[in-house]
Amino acid sequence: MSTVVPWRYTASDLDQLSPFGSVLADRMPMARFEGGAWSQPEMISMDDFQLHPGAHALHYGSSCFEGLKAYRWEDDSIALFRGDRHARRMGESAAQLMLPIPEPAMLEPMFVQAVRESAAWIPPDPGSLYLRPVLLGTDPNIGAAGRPSASAVLYVMTSPVGDYFAGGERALRLLIEDKQPRTTPQFGKVKTGANYASALVPTMAARSKYQADQILFCPGGDVQEAGAANFILIDEQRLVTKPLCKSFLHGVTRDSVLTIAGELGLEVEERDFTVDELLEWTQHGEAALTGTAAVLTGVGTLIHDDQEFQLLDGETGPQAKRLRTALVDIQRGRAADSHGWIRKID
Ligand SMILES: *Cc1c(COP(=O)(O)O)cnc(C)c1O
Repeated sequence: MSTVVPWRYTASDLDQLSPFGSVLADRMPMARFEGGAWSQPEMISMDDFQLHPGAHALHYGSSCFEGLKAYRWEDDSIALFRGDRHARRMGESAAQLMLPIPEPAMLEPMFVQAVRESAAWIPPDPGSLYLRPVLLGTDPNIGAAGRPSASAVLYVMTSPVGDYFAGGERALRLLIEDKQPRTTPQFGKVKTGANYASALVPTMAARSKYQADQILFCPGGDVQEAGAANFILIDEQRLVTKPLCKSFLHGVTRDSVLTIAGELGLEVEERDFTVDELLEWTQHGEAALTGTAAVLTGVGTLIHDDQEFQLLDGETGPQAKRLRTALVDIQRGRAADSHGWIRKID
């Protein structure tokens, strides 16, 4: 660990892990792609990590990442959640950036290596170990703006985390942005750094002007997603969310929540919907964000054209809580994993 940490976190240590992602393990598995092949992944110290200042990723944005979690169960065993899906998605991101594609057969064992290395620091419920796989184009050639990087580096960082949103499970305030898109059409489903950089100016403006936690991007009135989480509507009968398309990030949490919602008897409607329908929905239903970091967090307030719309009482609603509990129970081994989402790590 790069900061002084206890040998082992207990639930009462979790506030030391805030803000989310600020405590990082100093060792990580790393592999390099050179001359058309990947090296054998090896465990390195972060101090030994080298990147050329001319690296392609630093100049032309050839970088992508993932985010997934491992959990310490009550019996002290460790479980990784849906590593296969995250590995596959990283390959899809890499393909869009014309980076060498790390095959799941190489990447998943690197996830396991990273978790094993940090096993002692995985905090108990409600904490977890956040894994941050990163892939960067490393060609040291600043003239390669119009060419892909032929070399790359891949590593898996880990961070013991508590709650993503400071203030715990407080319901969020979202500003509806109905003109600007979050990113470009070709990068909507790519987990690449540029997307988050391009959302910064509007997100900071939404914070200072409206005290909004995040922006809900709805270009042309089409409700898509927030800056780093997917968006769902829920009521007693149904869950409504945008169908998979190139405009937004295909969340693993979204997929898990949709599956669980169906099993709990909700009708799952994957269809486009507009800001008008969303504002009407606020009169009776709930809304939530889903993501590995956010898990499933209720939306309490939507802000549109300087007007505020409260959902229920501005609190996380009962359906959101029910879905969140069902998901977290699987992740933490309190409910059966009937989908093969869990991989135990010894
Ligand atoms: C990572 C991310 C999500 C959530 O994906 P999960 O797989 O559920 O963690 C949603 N939207 C964006 C823009 C993201 O970057």
